[in-house]
Amino acid sequence: MSDFVIPPPAIAAVPVDGGGHFPVRRIFCVGRNYAEHAREMGADPDRELPFFFCKPADALVTGGAAMPYPPMSSSLHHEMELVVAIGTGGADIPEASALSHVWGYAAGLDMTRRDLQNQAKKEGKPWDMGKGFDHSAPIGTMIPAARFPAPTRGAIELKVNGAVRQSSDLSKLIWSVAETIAYLSRLVTLAPGDLIFTGTPEGVAAVMRGDVLEGSVAGVGTVRTVIS
Ligand code: MN
Repeated sequence: MSDFVIPPPAIAAVPVDGGGHFPVRRIFCVGRNYAEHAREMGADPDRELPFFFCKPADALVTGGAAMPYPPMSSSLHHEMELVVAIGTGGADIPEASALSHVWGYAAGLDMTRRDLQNQAKKEGKPWDMGKGFDHSAPIGTMIPAARFPAPTRGAIELKVNGAVRQSSDLSKLIWSVAETIAYLSRLVTLAPGDLIFTGTPEGVAAVMRGDVLEGSVAGVGTVRTVIS
């Protein structure tokens, strides 16, 4: 289209291991998808269907770039997560074929202004400004799904300044990757370019300017950023 009245926005993209970029359309995030994290947030993990919130695609921070400490918060928390990249869209995707819609996987951080999120929860308001702010989604290099079996188990870990802060296993996901895709595709029609942050294990905590965050998901890769 050549009649845009302002220049069209750039397409957010994630570098792919081996070359190229994965173009990003939307970012969906699953809430409370590990039991121990749900408990540390004061929720009962046995009584919830999966629920979702979103971040804008241009919240991504790639290539190990620094993440600026966000405004309007004094409680920036890390949430280390497995990220799923949708290559083939669809609605009402059956769980049995859900993984065939995945193009790749990455390690990512669902950075959270916990003070704003907690205030929103208390007041029954949306989470958007606690979750979907600028630079709130650092992500590592994406690995094509064709290269390895779907990650259903394996260590997920985050170190801050070299000390382990979060350490769990993908087998502890309450809703598996396939179940999450199937359920989300009932709520919205998934499209190529959609990312799903699949939730964080326990151990979330605050970071400060200068902290170095290094996350890893076994078999999937790493994510690194420094808070600036
Ligand atoms: Mn999260």
